[in-house]
Amino acid sequence: MDYEHYFSKRIADLKAEGRYRVFADLERICGRFPVALNHRDGKTVEVVVWCSNDYLGMGQRPEVIAATHEALDRCGAGAGGTRNISGTNHYHVLLEEEMADFNAKESALLFTSGYVANQTVLSTLGATIPGCIIFSDELNHNSMIEGIRHGRSPKQIFRHNDAQDLERLLAAAPKDAPKLVAFESVYSMDGDIAPIAEICDVAEKYGAMTYLDEVHAVGMYGEQGSGVAERDGLRDRITIIQGTMAKAIGVVGGYIAASNACVDYARSFGPGFIFSSSMPPATAAACLASVQYLRKHPELRVKHQERAATCKRRLSERGIPVLPSVSHIIPVMVGNASLCKQASDLLLSDYNIYVQPINYPTVPVGTERLRITPTPLHDDSMMDHLIESFCAVWDRLGIAKAQEQKAAE
Ligand code: PMP
Repeated sequence: MDYEHYFSKRIADLKAEGRYRVFADLERICGRFPVALNHRDGKTVEVVVWCSNDYLGMGQRPEVIAATHEALDRCGAGAGGTRNISGTNHYHVLLEEEMADFNAKESALLFTSGYVANQTVLSTLGATIPGCIIFSDELNHNSMIEGIRHGRSPKQIFRHNDAQDLERLLAAAPKDAPKLVAFESVYSMDGDIAPIAEICDVAEKYGAMTYLDEVHAVGMYGEQGSGVAERDGLRDRITIIQGTMAKAIGVVGGYIAASNACVDYARSFGPGFIFSSSMPPATAAACLASVQYLRKHPELRVKHQERAATCKRRLSERGIPVLPSVSHIIPVMVGNASLCKQASDLLLSDYNIYVQPINYPTVPVGTERLRITPTPLHDDSMMDHLIESFCAVWDRLGIAKAQEQKAAE
């Protein structure tokens, strides 16, 4: 086989389909979030980032940076091994204690990313609990899908956020089989939120464990910010809460929080935990400082929701087709991969606004979109500029406005 030719051909296909990914080359500027430098075409330009998953700007908070510096100076750059072989640093222990308490669970376990947490825990449960059937929401994130696949246990896919459909599948499964229901709280592409109470009702009725991915909710929902399960008073009904440190916490890493026995099981049997080196101590210290800050600052969450609601309202008033999401995520529908990419390119080149296009396979063909994530640090003048720029780009490219999209349906 001509391997080089094969690789090039597959990439050429992606380009022809308008699905080839191009990364914006950004340089974050400490203290100026959401402004960043964008290196392109041999130039360096200041842009306002409107698609960051550092949802609350915590990655640049002085408290987080100071904690990182201190731990870096004390412990150096790396952890020195896997958790089992010299890589458990005191900061990991402190952070796990904090995450357990934060999630109102007995224990917590760190992973190098949220992806690894999902992949490892779901595959481990599927592979090691004899006969376990996993029930998975059809829009679950790739990390959950890969984990479930890798575990090779029987799986059932239920319709998105549909507790009745879940019940139909649970009722049809063997009564005595172990079961696990895996779902997310905030779905990151449509910005909708799961009916957690209804899903728990059904799961409990059929004796199933529940696994909730709070990746797009941690830091942002609930009085102390641990997620939607906290907001809705449902944490004790979730068997395993999973999350990331890489979005609203502003750093990197993943975790689960659950009972002592359940966490010990993942720690003892999960290959992605056991065989991978642990996060640097300074990273754990940064996460710890960020979580401690977030727990004490609910006003950040209030401001965040206000910014998102205002942005959604103002775009809608101007006819920009916003999906009516109930969360902080604002999907603006374009419905065509090439137009979506052109809109994103034009926003960057002519208006210094960075919003990444979201195309297939992340979202279905025909639902391509620009996904805006306002933060508490986007001020009114930034928002004015965003709204005017979107209107200008919509006109210049002739993208359908909300009413035209409705009429075409
Ligand atoms: N779950 C969901 C729902 C996600 O959107 C993501 C990341 N995009 C992950 C898990 C993985 O988290 P991380 O980025 O920490 O690997």
